[in-house]
Amino acid sequence: MKGDIRITKSKFLKIKCPKCNFEQVMFGKATTIVKCLGCGNSLSKPSASKSKLKAKVIEVLK
Ligand SMILES: [Zn+2]
Repeated sequence: MKGDIRITKSKFLKIKCPKCNFEQVMFGKATTIVKCLGCGNSLSKPSASKSKLKAKVIEVLK
């Protein structure tokens, strides 16, 4: 059964793609690869402990 819903204190980040400057919002603790919606460039790659962010963080949303 799928439905692993957890409430976390993680924040959403407003990020900007370094390649095409497309702005989008991503989850701060993303466990999947986050791709730019503008050009498909991978902006975040999850690793063992934390995700590696390649994009510029413009704003941290609460
Ligand atoms: Zn892009």
